[in-house]
Amino acid sequence: LVGVSLARLLPHAVMSQADAIERQLAAGRTAWEFERLPMVRADDTEIIVNVLARRLDWMGEPAVEVSMLDVTDQVRYEHEVDMRRRQLEETATHLASLAENLDVARQDADRHRRRAEEANRSKSRFLAMMSHEIRTPMTSVIGMIDLLLDTRLTDQQQAYMSTMRSSARAQMALLNDLLDYSRFEAGGLRLEKIDFDASEILVDVAELHRPLASENGTALSVDVRTKPPIVRGDPIRVRQILTNLAGNAVKFTQRGHIELRLEAVAAKDEQVLLTFAVADDGIGIPPDRLARLFTAFEQVDTSTTRRYGGTGLGLSICRHLVTMMDGDIWAESIEGQGSTFRFTLKLERGRCPAATPGIVDARHSTGGPTPLGRPLRILVAEDTKANRLLIVTMLQRRGHQVDSVGNGREAVDAVRSGPYDLVLMDMQMPEMDGSEALVQIRRLPTTAVRLPIIALTADAVPESRIRGLAAGFDDYVTKPIDWGQLDQAIARVLGTAEASG
Ligand code: ADP
Repeated sequence: LVGVSLARLLPHAVMSQADAIERQLAAGRTAWEFERLPMVRADDTEIIVNVLARRLDWMGEPAVEVSMLDVTDQVRYEHEVDMRRRQLEETATHLASLAENLDVARQDADRHRRRAEEANRSKSRFLAMMSHEIRTPMTSVIGMIDLLLDTRLTDQQQAYMSTMRSSARAQMALLNDLLDYSRFEAGGLRLEKIDFDASEILVDVAELHRPLASENGTALSVDVRTKPPIVRGDPIRVRQILTNLAGNAVKFTQRGHIELRLEAVAAKDEQVLLTFAVADDGIGIPPDRLARLFTAFEQVDTSTTRRYGGTGLGLSICRHLVTMMDGDIWAESIEGQGSTFRFTLKLERGRCPAATPGIVDARHSTGGPTPLGRPLRILVAEDTKANRLLIVTMLQRRGHQVDSVGNGREAVDAVRSGPYDLVLMDMQMPEMDGSEALVQIRRLPTTAVRLPIIALTADAVPESRIRGLAAGFDDYVTKPIDWGQLDQAIARVLGTAEASG
């Protein structure tokens, strides 16, 4: 294009540099390269080009040669790749931040879990402590009522006291239920492993409920179809289930018949499956309520004017206990005709039965003296005055000779100076607690027979039993003291002591 100014030949995008290029030309520069310049073609399509401009001599005339390479596709492709890469990078960043969030969330959850576990532990500790605090005064209330009932009273006083006793026992039963229930919630209930005869418990529970049933004009029978082998498990909890079911049967049956049955025994290798039934011909349960009975706080009659008391916790506790023993519990009932509650327990086969531990449920504590062969010299160490008086009186009523002290140090002194057949030692005492006193007593120069020492403790958490025995106590009785249980513990440790001594 002879005579045309260079500027007209330049792509639009470098037009602004035209003056600069003219000057460079004049100064002798011969070549220029421009990359990726947008251009519009004659047909209006936009393209991208690389431009190479070169100055040359055209037959003696100065000339400029311009060549263009269309790189539109390459640039688009590169853009595409770039965009994809950026997208990928974004995704990666996003993922990384998600992972980070997840990590934070996990740490958060961990912290929450740890906090919840800690809360649970302190809840359990609180419960154990409360069970001590609440039961201790209740024990002495019930004990004192028992003592008072044994004194000379007018008929009217006798009637008042009896009412007081049943209210106090009901209160204690309610308390035990609530404590059990909260312990399930806190996951703090452990089962013991003791050898026992399940049929004995059934017969025992039947015996205890017969007088109550007959007050309603109801007969109560017991039927052990097959004598079961000795099993290993938690006899106190088995008794609790039966007591609950028998108690309900009595409560909901008027002038009828109740039967407690051990229906089936299936033993295989080291496992024994027991099937129990408690059948009554009382008021029965509507079909739509049957399934929900085992849920906490569920009662058939929820009107405020309901005839029957209760918390609706009993069956839920039964279900928890049965489940812990790998069993099932269910009910069959026809309204107006009666109910049958059945449950199974899967237990290990046991060896020989230890003396069956006594009754934990204060509802059924007989409080009556159990003859123990011979009068004993017993030392009682217990810091709570009311409890001390109660224990001493109960033991004296059984014909024993009893001394009492208020802390561990006095207990050690007493044992040093007097011969005793037995010591009952409270675990929690001021100045010197039960465990320390035990250690010191065991260090005293001994007579021929090792002095049996029974621990008394108010926290009914089973681990403490193990701890108690491991600490060197010969046996362990929980407060509130069930007198039958104490009698059995005494018989047990003296049996052991005399056999080995
Ligand atoms: P509570 O007896 O303290 O209310 P339970 O959990 O032991 O709590 O029982 C829940 C409910 O189941 C009772 O309130 C009663 O309505 C019903 N029930 C339990 N056993 C029987 C029975 N043998 N006959 C009739 N109703 C029963």
